[in-house]
Amino acid sequence: MAAASSPSGLRRSIVLKRRPKGEPNADDFEVREDPIPAPAAGEVVTRTIWLSIDPYMRGRLREEQTYAVAIQIGEVMTGETVGEVIASADPAFSAGDIVVGSRGWQTHSVTPGDRLTRISKGAAPLSAYLGVLGMPGATAYAGVTEICKPKAGETFVVSAASGAVGSVAGQVAKRAGARVIGIAGGSEKCLWVQDSLGFDDCVDHRSMDLRRELLAACPNGIDGYFENVGGAVQTAVFDQLNPFARVAMCGMVSQYNQTVMPPGPNLGFVVGKRVLIQGFIVSDRPARLTEWRAMAEPLVADGSLVYREDVIDGLENAPDALAGILGGRNFGKLLVRVSHEGD
Ligand code: NDP
Repeated sequence: MAAASSPSGLRRSIVLKRRPKGEPNADDFEVREDPIPAPAAGEVVTRTIWLSIDPYMRGRLREEQTYAVAIQIGEVMTGETVGEVIASADPAFSAGDIVVGSRGWQTHSVTPGDRLTRISKGAAPLSAYLGVLGMPGATAYAGVTEICKPKAGETFVVSAASGAVGSVAGQVAKRAGARVIGIAGGSEKCLWVQDSLGFDDCVDHRSMDLRRELLAACPNGIDGYFENVGGAVQTAVFDQLNPFARVAMCGMVSQYNQTVMPPGPNLGFVVGKRVLIQGFIVSDRPARLTEWRAMAEPLVADGSLVYREDVIDGLENAPDALAGILGGRNFGKLLVRVSHEGD
Protein backbone atom coordinates (compact mmCIF):
# COMPACT_ATOMS: atom_id res chain seq x y z
CA MET A 1 0.00 0.00 0.00
CA ALA A 2 1.28 3.51 -0.78
CA ALA A 3 2.35 5.44 2.31
CA ALA A 4 -0.22 8.04 3.42
CA SER A 5 0.92 11.66 3.28
CA SER A 6 1.98 13.06 6.65
CA PRO A 7 -0.27 15.74 8.08
CA SER A 8 1.58 18.83 9.26
CA GLY A 9 1.02 21.00 12.32
CA LEU A 10 0.69 20.50 16.04
CA ARG A 11 -1.74 18.37 18.00
CA ARG A 12 -3.00 19.56 21.39
CA SER A 13 -3.99 16.99 24.01
CA ILE A 14 -5.34 17.36 27.54
CA VAL A 15 -3.62 14.98 29.94
CA LEU A 16 -4.26 14.19 33.61
CA LYS A 17 -1.80 16.08 35.85
CA ARG A 18 -3.06 14.95 39.27
CA ARG A 19 -6.07 13.09 40.62
CA PRO A 20 -8.86 15.50 41.63
CA LYS A 21 -10.21 15.57 45.16
CA GLY A 22 -13.95 16.26 44.99
CA GLU A 23 -14.99 18.32 41.99
CA PRO A 24 -12.38 18.24 39.19
CA ASN A 25 -10.99 21.55 37.94
CA ALA A 26 -8.69 22.86 35.21
CA ASP A 27 -5.58 22.61 37.48
CA ASP A 28 -5.97 18.81 37.54
CA PHE A 29 -5.14 18.72 33.83
CA GLU A 30 -2.48 20.14 31.52
CA VAL A 31 -2.20 20.77 27.79
CA ARG A 32 0.47 18.91 25.87
CA GLU A 33 1.55 19.69 22.30
CA ASP A 34 3.33 17.45 19.83
CA PRO A 35 3.48 17.14 16.03
CA ILE A 36 0.44 15.50 14.45
CA PRO A 37 1.65 11.91 13.91
CA ALA A 38 1.74 10.19 10.53
CA PRO A 39 -0.38 7.03 10.24
CA ALA A 40 1.34 3.60 10.18
CA ALA A 41 -0.17 0.82 8.03
CA GLY A 42 -3.81 0.27 9.04
CA GLU A 43 -4.03 3.59 10.91
CA VAL A 44 -6.07 6.72 10.33
CA VAL A 45 -5.40 10.32 11.41
CA THR A 46 -8.47 12.36 12.38
CA ARG A 47 -9.15 15.99 13.23
CA THR A 48 -11.53 16.18 16.17
CA ILE A 49 -14.72 18.17 15.55
CA TRP A 50 -16.85 17.22 18.57
CA LEU A 51 -15.83 15.84 21.97
CA SER A 52 -18.43 14.31 24.29
CA ILE A 53 -18.33 15.15 28.02
CA ASP A 54 -19.91 12.42 30.15
CA PRO A 55 -20.30 11.78 33.90
CA TYR A 56 -18.47 8.41 33.65
CA MET A 57 -15.25 10.36 33.05
CA ARG A 58 -15.10 11.21 36.77
CA GLY A 59 -14.73 7.49 37.58
CA ARG A 60 -11.71 7.21 35.25
CA LEU A 61 -9.91 9.89 37.33
CA ARG A 62 -9.97 7.76 40.48
CA GLU A 63 -6.90 5.79 41.55
CA GLU A 64 -8.86 2.60 42.03
CA GLN A 65 -10.27 0.84 39.00
CA THR A 66 -14.06 0.90 38.53
CA TYR A 67 -15.65 -1.23 35.79
CA ALA A 68 -13.12 0.36 33.43
CA VAL A 69 -9.38 1.04 33.64
CA ALA A 70 -8.32 4.27 35.42
CA ILE A 71 -6.54 7.05 33.49
CA GLN A 72 -2.89 7.25 34.53
CA ILE A 73 -1.11 10.52 35.38
CA GLY A 74 0.27 11.95 32.11
CA GLU A 75 -2.20 10.01 29.99
CA VAL A 76 -4.61 11.68 27.53
CA MET A 77 -8.11 11.98 29.01
CA THR A 78 -10.58 9.52 27.55
CA GLY A 79 -13.66 10.58 25.57
CA GLU A 80 -15.84 9.80 22.55
CA THR A 81 -15.32 12.04 19.52
CA VAL A 82 -16.62 12.78 16.05
CA GLY A 83 -13.79 13.66 13.68
CA GLU A 84 -12.82 14.06 10.05
CA VAL A 85 -10.22 11.79 8.47
CA ILE A 86 -7.27 13.90 7.30
CA ALA A 87 -4.84 11.08 6.39
CA SER A 88 -5.38 7.35 6.05
CA ALA A 89 -3.18 4.27 5.72
CA ASP A 90 -6.25 2.04 6.03
CA PRO A 91 -7.90 1.29 2.66
CA ALA A 92 -11.33 1.35 4.35
CA PHE A 93 -11.06 5.12 5.03
CA SER A 94 -10.32 8.20 2.90
CA ALA A 95 -9.62 11.84 3.69
CA GLY A 96 -12.92 13.64 4.31
CA ASP A 97 -14.70 10.66 5.91
CA ILE A 98 -16.52 11.45 9.16
CA VAL A 99 -15.90 8.91 11.94
CA VAL A 100 -16.96 8.23 15.53
CA GLY A 101 -14.54 6.69 18.03
CA SER A 102 -13.17 6.87 21.54
CA ARG A 103 -10.21 9.12 20.71
CA GLY A 104 -9.91 11.28 23.83
CA TRP A 105 -9.46 14.95 24.65
CA GLN A 106 -7.24 15.94 21.75
CA THR A 107 -7.38 17.97 18.55
CA HIS A 108 -6.04 15.11 16.41
CA SER A 109 -5.67 11.37 16.88
CA VAL A 110 -3.98 8.47 15.18
CA THR A 111 -6.05 5.31 15.45
CA PRO A 112 -6.26 1.80 14.00
CA GLY A 113 -9.08 2.01 11.45
CA ASP A 114 -10.92 -0.93 13.01
CA ARG A 115 -11.65 1.19 16.11
CA LEU A 116 -13.56 3.79 14.11
CA THR A 117 -17.10 3.80 12.73
CA ARG A 118 -17.87 5.83 9.62
CA ILE A 119 -21.09 7.85 9.79
CA SER A 120 -23.08 9.07 6.84
CA LYS A 121 -23.11 12.82 6.30
CA GLY A 122 -26.51 14.49 6.21
CA ALA A 123 -28.64 11.94 8.10
CA ALA A 124 -28.37 14.01 11.31
CA PRO A 125 -26.13 16.74 12.77
CA LEU A 126 -22.70 15.22 13.47
CA SER A 127 -22.90 16.11 17.17
CA ALA A 128 -25.99 13.89 17.55
CA TYR A 129 -23.77 10.81 17.15
CA LEU A 130 -22.31 11.55 20.60
CA GLY A 131 -25.71 12.00 22.25
CA VAL A 132 -29.13 10.92 21.09
CA LEU A 133 -27.69 8.68 18.32
CA GLY A 134 -24.62 7.63 20.30
CA MET A 135 -23.63 5.98 23.55
CA PRO A 136 -26.10 7.94 25.79
CA GLY A 137 -29.07 7.20 23.49
CA ALA A 138 -28.16 3.51 23.32
CA THR A 139 -27.81 3.44 27.13
CA ALA A 140 -31.35 4.72 27.53
CA TYR A 141 -32.72 2.32 24.93
CA ALA A 142 -30.98 -0.73 26.45
CA GLY A 143 -31.93 0.09 30.05
CA VAL A 144 -35.57 0.84 29.32
CA THR A 145 -36.25 -2.07 26.95
CA GLU A 146 -34.18 -4.75 28.72
CA ILE A 147 -34.72 -3.88 32.40
CA CYS A 148 -37.60 -1.47 33.06
CA LYS A 149 -39.85 -2.94 30.31
CA PRO A 150 -42.59 -0.30 30.71
CA LYS A 151 -46.13 -1.21 29.71
CA ALA A 152 -49.18 0.85 28.78
CA GLY A 153 -50.82 2.27 31.89
CA GLU A 154 -47.75 1.86 34.12
CA THR A 155 -45.90 4.74 35.78
CA PHE A 156 -42.26 5.15 34.74
CA VAL A 157 -39.90 7.60 36.47
CA VAL A 158 -36.51 8.78 35.21
CA SER A 159 -34.02 11.02 37.04
CA ALA A 160 -31.68 13.54 35.33
CA ALA A 161 -34.60 13.69 32.91
CA SER A 162 -33.35 16.63 30.82
CA GLY A 163 -29.93 15.01 30.28
CA ALA A 164 -28.53 12.97 27.41
CA VAL A 165 -29.61 9.58 28.78
CA GLY A 166 -32.71 10.58 30.77
CA SER A 167 -34.35 12.56 27.94
CA VAL A 168 -34.17 9.51 25.64
CA ALA A 169 -35.17 7.01 28.36
CA GLY A 170 -38.40 8.90 29.02
CA GLN A 171 -39.25 9.17 25.31
CA VAL A 172 -38.66 5.43 24.81
CA ALA A 173 -40.94 4.64 27.79
CA LYS A 174 -43.55 7.06 26.49
CA ARG A 175 -43.56 5.26 23.11
CA ALA A 176 -44.23 2.02 25.04
CA GLY A 177 -47.40 3.64 26.43
CA ALA A 178 -46.30 4.34 30.01
CA ARG A 179 -47.14 7.45 32.00
CA VAL A 180 -43.72 9.11 32.26
CA ILE A 181 -42.56 11.34 35.11
CA GLY A 182 -39.19 13.09 34.97
CA ILE A 183 -37.10 14.36 37.86
CA ALA A 184 -34.80 17.31 37.08
CA GLY A 185 -33.05 20.22 38.78
CA GLY A 186 -34.87 23.55 38.47
CA SER A 187 -38.02 24.90 36.84
CA GLU A 188 -36.43 25.63 33.43
CA LYS A 189 -35.35 22.01 32.98
CA CYS A 190 -38.71 20.70 34.27
CA LEU A 191 -40.66 22.90 31.85
CA TRP A 192 -38.57 21.66 28.90
CA VAL A 193 -39.03 18.04 29.97
CA GLN A 194 -42.82 18.48 29.93
CA ASP A 195 -43.29 20.89 27.02
CA SER A 196 -40.61 19.70 24.57
CA LEU A 197 -40.05 16.05 25.50
CA GLY A 198 -43.75 15.45 26.17
CA PHE A 199 -43.38 13.78 29.59
CA ASP A 200 -46.60 13.70 31.62
CA ASP A 201 -45.04 15.53 34.57
CA CYS A 202 -41.67 16.59 35.95
CA VAL A 203 -40.68 17.04 39.58
CA ASP A 204 -37.94 19.47 40.63
CA HIS A 205 -35.54 17.64 42.96
CA ARG A 206 -34.47 20.98 44.46
CA SER A 207 -37.99 21.67 45.72
CA MET A 208 -38.70 21.80 49.46
CA ASP A 209 -40.61 18.51 49.60
CA LEU A 210 -39.49 16.17 46.84
CA ARG A 211 -41.21 13.17 48.43
CA ARG A 212 -44.62 14.85 48.56
CA GLU A 213 -44.35 16.25 45.02
CA LEU A 214 -43.35 12.86 43.66
CA LEU A 215 -46.31 11.28 45.45
CA ALA A 216 -48.64 13.83 43.83
CA ALA A 217 -47.16 13.10 40.38
CA CYS A 218 -47.34 9.30 40.86
CA PRO A 219 -50.68 8.62 42.63
CA ASN A 220 -50.57 4.95 41.56
CA GLY A 221 -46.99 4.38 42.72
CA ILE A 222 -43.95 3.69 40.49
CA ASP A 223 -43.62 0.58 38.30
CA GLY A 224 -40.38 1.39 36.50
CA TYR A 225 -37.45 3.59 37.55
CA PHE A 226 -34.42 4.56 35.48
CA GLU A 227 -31.79 5.60 38.04
CA ASN A 228 -29.26 8.23 36.96
CA VAL A 229 -28.50 10.20 40.14
CA GLY A 230 -28.85 8.30 43.47
CA GLY A 231 -28.87 10.18 46.80
CA ALA A 232 -32.02 11.92 48.03
CA VAL A 233 -33.76 11.39 44.68
CA GLN A 234 -33.25 7.64 44.95
CA THR A 235 -34.61 7.56 48.50
CA ALA A 236 -37.77 9.41 47.46
CA VAL A 237 -38.36 7.13 44.46
CA PHE A 238 -37.60 3.85 46.25
CA ASP A 239 -40.15 4.71 48.95
CA GLN A 240 -42.85 4.76 46.29
CA LEU A 241 -41.98 1.67 44.22
CA ASN A 242 -44.84 -0.76 43.62
CA PRO A 243 -44.57 -4.53 44.12
CA PHE A 244 -42.72 -6.09 41.14
CA ALA A 245 -41.25 -2.74 40.06
CA ARG A 246 -38.22 -2.86 37.76
CA VAL A 247 -35.27 -0.54 38.46
CA ALA A 248 -32.48 0.01 35.91
CA MET A 249 -29.40 1.11 37.85
CA CYS A 250 -27.70 3.21 35.17
CA GLY A 251 -25.63 5.66 37.24
CA MET A 252 -25.49 7.69 40.47
CA VAL A 253 -23.98 11.01 39.41
CA SER A 254 -24.71 12.67 42.78
CA GLN A 255 -21.94 10.51 44.31
CA TYR A 256 -19.20 10.82 41.67
CA ASN A 257 -17.37 13.72 43.37
CA GLN A 258 -17.82 12.36 46.89
CA THR A 259 -14.69 11.25 48.73
CA VAL A 260 -16.61 9.48 51.52
CA MET A 261 -19.63 7.44 50.48
CA PRO A 262 -22.88 7.94 52.44
CA PRO A 263 -23.97 5.06 54.71
CA GLY A 264 -26.45 2.51 53.43
CA PRO A 265 -28.16 1.27 51.44
CA ASN A 266 -31.14 -0.26 53.16
CA LEU A 267 -32.74 -2.27 50.40
CA GLY A 268 -34.91 -4.46 52.64
CA PHE A 269 -38.02 -3.45 50.68
CA VAL A 270 -36.61 -5.21 47.59
CA VAL A 271 -37.59 -8.52 49.17
CA GLY A 272 -41.12 -7.75 50.32
CA LYS A 273 -42.02 -5.97 47.10
CA ARG A 274 -40.22 -8.51 44.86
CA VAL A 275 -38.50 -5.57 43.13
CA LEU A 276 -36.03 -6.32 40.34
CA ILE A 277 -32.99 -4.01 40.45
CA GLN A 278 -30.33 -4.47 37.79
CA GLY A 279 -27.15 -2.56 37.04
CA PHE A 280 -25.93 -2.39 33.46
CA ILE A 281 -23.09 -0.97 31.39
CA VAL A 282 -23.90 -0.01 27.83
CA SER A 283 -20.51 -1.08 26.47
CA ASP A 284 -21.43 -4.73 27.26
CA ARG A 285 -24.12 -4.38 24.59
CA PRO A 286 -22.47 -3.06 21.41
CA ALA A 287 -25.24 -4.48 19.19
CA ARG A 288 -27.80 -2.28 20.94
CA LEU A 289 -26.02 0.87 19.70
CA THR A 290 -26.25 -0.26 16.08
CA GLU A 291 -29.89 -1.25 16.56
CA TRP A 292 -30.74 2.00 18.32
CA ARG A 293 -29.00 4.20 15.76
CA ALA A 294 -30.86 2.56 12.84
CA MET A 295 -34.17 2.98 14.68
CA ALA A 296 -33.55 6.53 15.94
CA GLU A 297 -31.94 8.22 12.91
CA PRO A 298 -35.27 8.70 11.06
CA LEU A 299 -36.93 9.88 14.30
CA VAL A 300 -34.26 12.55 14.75
CA ALA A 301 -34.61 13.54 11.09
CA ASP A 302 -38.41 13.99 11.34
CA GLY A 303 -38.18 15.73 14.73
CA SER A 304 -40.24 13.17 16.66
CA LEU A 305 -37.29 12.20 18.89
CA VAL A 306 -36.37 15.36 20.76
CA TYR A 307 -32.89 16.19 22.04
CA ARG A 308 -31.05 19.21 23.34
CA GLU A 309 -27.35 20.04 23.24
CA ASP A 310 -25.25 22.27 25.47
CA VAL A 311 -22.15 23.32 23.49
CA ILE A 312 -18.90 24.69 24.94
CA ASP A 313 -16.27 25.95 22.50
CA GLY A 314 -12.57 25.07 22.77
CA LEU A 315 -10.71 21.93 23.88
CA GLU A 316 -9.09 23.88 26.74
CA ASN A 317 -12.55 24.24 28.33
CA ALA A 318 -13.12 20.47 28.58
CA PRO A 319 -12.07 20.26 32.31
CA ASP A 320 -14.58 22.99 33.28
CA ALA A 321 -17.22 21.21 31.20
CA LEU A 322 -16.61 17.98 33.13
CA ALA A 323 -16.97 19.82 36.46
CA GLY A 324 -20.20 21.35 35.13
CA ILE A 325 -21.89 18.08 34.17
CA LEU A 326 -21.14 16.62 37.61
CA GLY A 327 -22.70 19.68 39.25
CA GLY A 328 -25.80 19.80 37.02
CA ARG A 329 -24.77 23.02 35.22
CA ASN A 330 -25.34 21.44 31.80
CA PHE A 331 -28.78 21.53 30.17
CA GLY A 332 -28.88 18.71 27.62
CA LYS A 333 -26.12 16.62 26.06
CA LEU A 334 -22.83 18.30 26.92
CA LEU A 335 -20.36 18.66 24.04
CA VAL A 336 -17.10 20.46 23.41
CA ARG A 337 -16.71 21.87 19.89
CA VAL A 338 -12.98 21.27 19.24
CA SER A 339 -13.04 22.55 15.64
CA HIS A 340 -15.66 23.46 13.06
CA GLU A 341 -17.00 21.01 10.52
CA GLY A 342 -15.83 22.95 7.46
CA ASP A 343 -12.34 23.90 8.76
P1 NDP B 1 -26.63 14.36 32.01
O1 NDP B 1 -26.63 15.03 30.69
O2 NDP B 1 -27.93 13.89 32.56
O3 NDP B 1 -25.90 15.30 33.08
C1 NDP B 1 -25.81 14.91 34.42
C2 NDP B 1 -27.02 15.46 35.20
O4 NDP B 1 -27.08 14.83 36.47
C3 NDP B 1 -26.91 16.93 35.55
O5 NDP B 1 -27.26 17.79 34.48
C4 NDP B 1 -27.88 17.05 36.71
O6 NDP B 1 -29.20 17.25 36.22
C5 NDP B 1 -27.82 15.65 37.34
N1 NDP B 1 -27.18 15.75 38.65
C6 NDP B 1 -25.88 16.03 38.92
N2 NDP B 1 -25.67 16.04 40.25
C7 NDP B 1 -26.87 15.76 40.83
C8 NDP B 1 -27.31 15.63 42.17
N3 NDP B 1 -26.45 15.80 43.20
N4 NDP B 1 -28.59 15.31 42.40
C9 NDP B 1 -29.45 15.14 41.39
N5 NDP B 1 -29.11 15.26 40.07
C10 NDP B 1 -27.82 15.58 39.82
O7 NDP B 1 -25.64 13.09 31.96
P2 NDP B 1 -25.82 11.76 31.12
O8 NDP B 1 -27.18 11.72 30.56
O9 NDP B 1 -24.66 11.63 30.22
O10 NDP B 1 -25.67 10.62 32.25
C11 NDP B 1 -26.75 10.35 33.13
C12 NDP B 1 -26.38 9.15 34.01
O11 NDP B 1 -26.20 7.99 33.18
C13 NDP B 1 -25.08 9.29 34.78
O12 NDP B 1 -25.24 8.72 36.07
C14 NDP B 1 -24.09 8.46 33.99
O13 NDP B 1 -23.00 8.02 34.75
C15 NDP B 1 -24.99 7.33 33.54
N6 NDP B 1 -24.53 6.57 32.38
C16 NDP B 1 -24.42 5.20 32.53
C17 NDP B 1 -24.08 4.41 31.46
C18 NDP B 1 -24.06 2.91 31.63
O14 NDP B 1 -23.62 2.22 30.72
N7 NDP B 1 -24.55 2.41 32.75
C19 NDP B 1 -23.71 5.00 30.16
C20 NDP B 1 -23.91 6.44 30.10
C21 NDP B 1 -24.28 7.20 31.18
P3 NDP B 1 -30.27 18.04 37.11
O15 NDP B 1 -29.86 19.47 37.12
O16 NDP B 1 -31.55 17.79 36.39
O17 NDP B 1 -30.24 17.42 38.46
